[in-house]
Amino acid sequence: MTERLYYTDSFLREFDARVLSCAQRPDGRFEVVLDRTAFYPTSGGQPHDLGRLGEAGITEVYDREADGEIVHIVDGPLPAGPVLGTIDWERRLDHIQQHTGQHLLSAAFLKLFHFPTVSFHLGREISTIDLDAPSVVPRHMAEAERLANQAVCDDRLIRVSFREREEVEKRDVRKLVAREGTLRLVEIEGFDAQPCGGTHAARTGQVGLILLRKVERQKGFWRVEFVCGARAVAAARGDWEALGAAARGIGCGMAEVPAMVAKMLEERKSAHRDRSWLAGRLAELEAAALLARIGPAEGGGTIIHAFDDGDAGFLRQVAARLAAQAGVRAAIASRSARQFVFARAKDVAGDMNLALRDVLAPAGGKGGGSAEFAQGTAPDAANVDDLLRRARERLDR
Ligand SMILES: [Zn+2]
Repeated sequence: MTERLYYTDSFLREFDARVLSCAQRPDGRFEVVLDRTAFYPTSGGQPHDLGRLGEAGITEVYDREADGEIVHIVDGPLPAGPVLGTIDWERRLDHIQQHTGQHLLSAAFLKLFHFPTVSFHLGREISTIDLDAPSVVPRHMAEAERLANQAVCDDRLIRVSFREREEVEKRDVRKLVAREGTLRLVEIEGFDAQPCGGTHAARTGQVGLILLRKVERQKGFWRVEFVCGARAVAAARGDWEALGAAARGIGCGMAEVPAMVAKMLEERKSAHRDRSWLAGRLAELEAAALLARIGPAEGGGTIIHAFDDGDAGFLRQVAARLAAQAGVRAAIASRSARQFVFARAKDVAGDMNLALRDVLAPAGGKGGGSAEFAQGTAPDAANVDDLLRRARERLDR
């Protein structure tokens, strides 16, 4: 059973140990067991440490529960005998900050609102706790954040002790664990007591700022995202830069961004309404101009026309107005959009869907619709005006 040095000292960065065994794995890496280790194995929602064992680099550390050994997976072989272990300190300190911050945050949610934490995950960028609560609203987030940060500012002592389960059960611990026998009790003076095997700060001040981020419903619980210490500083810096970029883009101060965005969205909605109205008016006028060409006296006719611009929506609007006139058949297109619409009035014979397919398919175009109204697209290589000439022949047939 490996002696766990991190149990009594989370701040141990280097340690001497003896290599008891080193076995090669099928993937080429090696599994090393030591008599003692300061490397934390993945457990309790916290990922393993990284670092070096002699000349070898650690890639993974896990707790082999069958025999209580901690297994270090390394990238090279190690001879039996003494070895120096070196912890990747930046990663360890980051984990200490996130993990200790989690204790403070879980205690804060419990003290303030009686929301117990059911699970914890320390992620690469964001950490989360799942709360058992009827709902978690912004007020809960802000108050828990304030209380947890107050505990950081108080710089409370964090004490680790080993106690029998029966004794721990009698104490006011936040959440009892399933483990039997001797438990490792982590106490944050005057704030929290929790059995836990992770790596914690010595004082709450070392956690640094605790920043709550998103909250969302997740599998029946409320998942709260948070960052602590250096991560909180990086997140705040990132927010500042994003908000600054938005403010510069709009040309206003940072504080005005929400109001300006709301105003711009309202303007966009109103501009969209205006644009729709104008497009409708334009379609109406274009249709009237095309209808004027065939003249009212002839009682209808065939209209073939290519617009330089206009999308499928514009063509549909024009075509609908043309087909509203008795006796009219129309094939219209947009040169820029390579779109086609074929339409006819109800009192005219002919299958527009078939006609459109007959015209577009030989050129590699696609489309379809009903006997009265069909639309399609020509490929880039096809000439829109040539296709419309074919449409005239087809419709006049
Ligand atoms: Zn812990």
